[in-house]
Amino acid sequence: MLNIVIFGPPGAGKGTQSEKILRHYNLAHISTGDLLRAERAAGSELGKAAEAYINQGQLVPDEVVIGMVHNFIAHNQGKAGFIFDGFPRTVKQAESLDEMLLGFQTTIQVVLGLEVEEDELVKRLLLRGKTSGRVDDQDESTIRNRFREYQAKTMPLSDFYKAQGKYRDIMGIGEVEDIFSALCTEIDQVKVAGV
Ligand code: AMP
Repeated sequence: MLNIVIFGPPGAGKGTQSEKILRHYNLAHISTGDLLRAERAAGSELGKAAEAYINQGQLVPDEVVIGMVHNFIAHNQGKAGFIFDGFPRTVKQAESLDEMLLGFQTTIQVVLGLEVEEDELVKRLLLRGKTSGRVDDQDESTIRNRFREYQAKTMPLSDFYKAQGKYRDIMGIGEVEDIFSALCTEIDQVKVAGV
Protein backbone atom coordinates (compact mmCIF):
# COMPACT_ATOMS: atom_id res chain seq x y z
CA MET A 1 0.00 0.00 0.00
CA LEU A 2 1.00 3.60 -0.52
CA ASN A 3 0.00 5.85 2.38
CA ILE A 4 0.81 9.54 2.22
CA VAL A 5 0.26 12.44 4.62
CA ILE A 6 -0.03 15.86 3.03
CA PHE A 7 0.97 18.40 5.61
CA GLY A 8 0.96 22.18 5.87
CA PRO A 9 -0.90 25.22 7.17
CA PRO A 10 -4.47 26.15 6.18
CA GLY A 11 -4.49 27.40 2.58
CA ALA A 12 -1.19 25.74 1.61
CA GLY A 13 -2.88 23.76 -1.18
CA LYS A 14 -3.31 20.40 0.56
CA GLY A 15 -6.81 19.84 -0.87
CA THR A 16 -5.88 20.84 -4.43
CA GLN A 17 -2.77 18.68 -4.48
CA SER A 18 -4.49 15.74 -2.76
CA GLU A 19 -7.07 15.60 -5.55
CA LYS A 20 -4.31 15.36 -8.15
CA ILE A 21 -2.26 12.82 -6.18
CA LEU A 22 -5.18 10.52 -5.49
CA ARG A 23 -6.10 10.40 -9.19
CA HIS A 24 -2.50 9.78 -10.25
CA TYR A 25 -1.82 7.00 -7.71
CA ASN A 26 -5.38 5.69 -7.34
CA LEU A 27 -5.63 6.37 -3.59
CA ALA A 28 -8.56 6.93 -1.26
CA HIS A 29 -8.77 10.51 0.04
CA ILE A 30 -9.27 11.15 3.76
CA SER A 31 -9.89 14.81 4.48
CA THR A 32 -11.04 15.18 8.09
CA GLY A 33 -12.21 18.74 7.30
CA ASP A 34 -14.47 17.40 4.51
CA LEU A 35 -15.72 14.56 6.73
CA LEU A 36 -16.54 17.02 9.52
CA ARG A 37 -18.35 19.37 7.14
CA ALA A 38 -20.36 16.41 5.77
CA GLU A 39 -21.34 15.45 9.34
CA ARG A 40 -22.43 19.02 9.97
CA ALA A 41 -24.45 19.15 6.74
CA ALA A 42 -26.14 15.85 7.71
CA GLY A 43 -27.03 17.38 11.10
CA SER A 44 -25.48 14.47 13.05
CA GLU A 45 -24.57 14.75 16.75
CA LEU A 46 -20.90 14.60 15.82
CA GLY A 47 -21.38 17.39 13.28
CA LYS A 48 -23.18 19.58 15.81
CA ALA A 49 -20.48 18.99 18.43
CA ALA A 50 -17.75 19.92 15.93
CA GLU A 51 -19.39 23.04 14.53
CA ALA A 52 -18.41 25.55 17.25
CA TYR A 53 -14.77 24.48 17.11
CA ILE A 54 -14.64 24.76 13.32
CA ASN A 55 -16.36 28.14 13.22
CA GLN A 56 -13.90 29.56 15.75
CA GLY A 57 -10.90 28.14 13.96
CA GLN A 58 -10.06 25.71 16.75
CA LEU A 59 -9.15 22.06 16.46
CA VAL A 60 -11.91 19.53 17.10
CA PRO A 61 -11.01 17.16 20.01
CA ASP A 62 -8.64 14.32 19.08
CA GLU A 63 -11.03 11.46 20.02
CA VAL A 64 -13.65 12.74 17.57
CA VAL A 65 -11.39 12.86 14.51
CA ILE A 66 -9.45 9.70 15.41
CA GLY A 67 -12.71 7.72 15.57
CA MET A 68 -13.83 9.16 12.22
CA VAL A 69 -10.56 8.23 10.51
CA HIS A 70 -10.62 4.72 11.95
CA ASN A 71 -14.13 4.18 10.53
CA PHE A 72 -13.08 5.52 7.16
CA ILE A 73 -10.06 3.20 6.91
CA ALA A 74 -12.10 0.21 8.03
CA HIS A 75 -14.71 0.92 5.33
CA ASN A 76 -12.18 1.52 2.55
CA GLN A 77 -10.06 -1.59 2.67
CA GLY A 78 -8.85 -2.94 -0.67
CA LYS A 79 -7.67 0.44 -1.98
CA ALA A 80 -4.13 0.99 -3.28
CA GLY A 81 -3.58 3.27 -0.28
CA PHE A 82 -4.67 6.50 1.38
CA ILE A 83 -3.86 10.15 1.21
CA PHE A 84 -4.38 11.84 4.57
CA ASP A 85 -5.27 15.51 4.15
CA GLY A 86 -5.65 17.68 7.25
CA PHE A 87 -4.98 14.66 9.48
CA PRO A 88 -3.04 14.15 11.69
CA ARG A 89 -2.99 17.62 13.24
CA THR A 90 -1.63 16.77 16.70
CA VAL A 91 1.07 14.42 17.96
CA LYS A 92 -1.66 12.38 19.66
CA GLN A 93 -3.43 11.96 16.29
CA ALA A 94 -0.16 10.96 14.62
CA GLU A 95 0.56 8.34 17.28
CA SER A 96 -2.97 6.97 16.93
CA LEU A 97 -2.62 6.86 13.15
CA ASP A 98 0.60 4.82 13.45
CA GLU A 99 -1.17 2.37 15.76
CA MET A 100 -4.25 2.19 13.55
CA LEU A 101 -2.24 1.50 10.40
CA LEU A 102 -0.21 -1.13 12.19
CA GLY A 103 -3.51 -2.84 12.99
CA PHE A 104 -4.23 -2.87 9.24
CA GLN A 105 -0.67 -4.20 8.59
CA THR A 106 0.48 -1.03 6.88
CA THR A 107 2.25 2.27 7.61
CA ILE A 108 2.80 5.86 6.41
CA GLN A 109 5.53 5.93 3.74
CA VAL A 110 5.98 9.67 3.26
CA VAL A 111 4.87 13.01 4.72
CA LEU A 112 4.85 15.88 2.24
CA GLY A 113 5.04 19.31 3.91
CA LEU A 114 3.88 22.27 1.79
CA GLU A 115 5.69 25.47 2.78
CA VAL A 116 3.93 28.82 2.21
CA GLU A 117 4.43 32.05 4.14
CA GLU A 118 1.60 33.36 6.34
CA ASP A 119 0.67 36.57 4.50
CA GLU A 120 0.22 34.63 1.25
CA LEU A 121 -1.95 32.08 3.12
CA VAL A 122 -4.24 34.80 4.52
CA LYS A 123 -4.71 36.22 1.02
CA ARG A 124 -5.53 32.79 -0.41
CA LEU A 125 -8.00 31.94 2.37
CA LEU A 126 -9.87 35.24 2.18
CA LEU A 127 -10.15 34.76 -1.58
CA ARG A 128 -11.38 31.18 -1.12
CA GLY A 129 -13.89 32.45 1.47
CA LYS A 130 -15.66 34.42 -1.25
CA THR A 131 -16.71 31.21 -3.00
CA SER A 132 -16.21 28.30 -0.57
CA GLY A 133 -19.11 29.26 1.70
CA ARG A 134 -16.86 28.25 4.60
CA VAL A 135 -17.49 30.35 7.72
CA ASP A 136 -13.91 29.75 8.85
CA ASP A 137 -12.50 31.30 5.64
CA GLN A 138 -14.43 34.55 5.96
CA ASP A 139 -12.67 36.75 8.47
CA GLU A 140 -9.08 37.40 9.24
CA SER A 141 -9.30 36.84 13.01
CA THR A 142 -10.67 33.28 12.56
CA ILE A 143 -7.98 32.61 9.97
CA ARG A 144 -5.27 33.86 12.38
CA ASN A 145 -6.75 31.54 15.06
CA ARG A 146 -6.32 28.62 12.69
CA PHE A 147 -2.66 29.59 12.20
CA ARG A 148 -2.15 29.79 15.97
CA GLU A 149 -3.61 26.31 16.36
CA TYR A 150 -1.40 25.11 13.52
CA GLN A 151 1.75 26.57 15.03
CA ALA A 152 1.04 25.36 18.57
CA LYS A 153 -0.36 21.89 17.89
CA THR A 154 0.38 20.81 14.32
CA MET A 155 3.87 22.18 13.54
CA PRO A 156 5.50 19.86 16.15
CA LEU A 157 4.41 16.97 13.94
CA SER A 158 7.11 17.82 11.43
CA ASP A 159 9.70 16.81 14.06
CA PHE A 160 7.70 13.68 14.85
CA TYR A 161 7.90 12.60 11.19
CA LYS A 162 11.49 13.85 10.72
CA ALA A 163 12.48 11.52 13.57
CA GLN A 164 10.90 8.68 11.54
CA GLY A 165 12.83 9.81 8.42
CA LYS A 166 9.56 10.36 6.52
CA TYR A 167 9.26 14.14 6.25
CA ARG A 168 9.90 16.02 2.97
CA ASP A 169 9.62 19.80 2.49
CA ILE A 170 8.10 21.14 -0.72
CA MET A 171 7.79 24.80 -1.70
CA GLY A 172 4.03 25.43 -1.97
CA ILE A 173 4.27 28.62 -4.05
CA GLY A 174 4.14 28.65 -7.84
CA GLU A 175 2.16 26.83 -10.52
CA VAL A 176 -0.12 24.02 -9.30
CA GLU A 177 1.38 21.65 -11.91
CA ASP A 178 4.99 22.40 -10.87
CA ILE A 179 4.18 21.77 -7.21
CA PHE A 180 2.38 18.55 -8.19
CA SER A 181 5.39 17.32 -10.12
CA ALA A 182 7.72 18.09 -7.17
CA LEU A 183 5.38 16.06 -4.94
CA CYS A 184 5.32 13.16 -7.42
CA THR A 185 9.12 13.10 -7.49
CA GLU A 186 9.18 12.56 -3.73
CA ILE A 187 6.42 9.93 -3.86
CA ASP A 188 8.10 8.03 -6.69
CA GLN A 189 11.34 7.92 -4.72
CA VAL A 190 9.68 6.12 -1.81
CA LYS A 191 7.86 3.83 -4.24
CA VAL A 192 11.12 2.88 -5.97
CA ALA A 193 12.81 2.37 -2.61
CA GLY A 194 9.90 0.07 -1.74
CA VAL A 195 9.61 1.54 1.76
P1 AMP B 1 -9.69 21.86 6.96
O1 AMP B 1 -10.79 21.65 5.97
O2 AMP B 1 -8.68 20.74 6.97
O3 AMP B 1 -9.06 23.22 6.85
O4 AMP B 1 -10.37 21.81 8.41
C1 AMP B 1 -11.35 22.73 8.80
C2 AMP B 1 -11.55 22.66 10.30
O5 AMP B 1 -12.01 21.36 10.70
C3 AMP B 1 -10.31 22.90 11.16
O6 AMP B 1 -10.02 24.28 11.36
C4 AMP B 1 -10.69 22.19 12.45
O7 AMP B 1 -11.61 22.96 13.20
C5 AMP B 1 -11.42 20.97 11.93
N1 AMP B 1 -10.49 19.85 11.67
C6 AMP B 1 -10.21 19.28 10.46
N2 AMP B 1 -9.32 18.29 10.59
C7 AMP B 1 -9.03 18.21 11.93
C8 AMP B 1 -8.16 17.39 12.69
N3 AMP B 1 -7.40 16.44 12.12
N4 AMP B 1 -8.11 17.61 14.03
C9 AMP B 1 -8.87 18.54 14.62
N5 AMP B 1 -9.70 19.36 13.96
C10 AMP B 1 -9.80 19.21 12.61
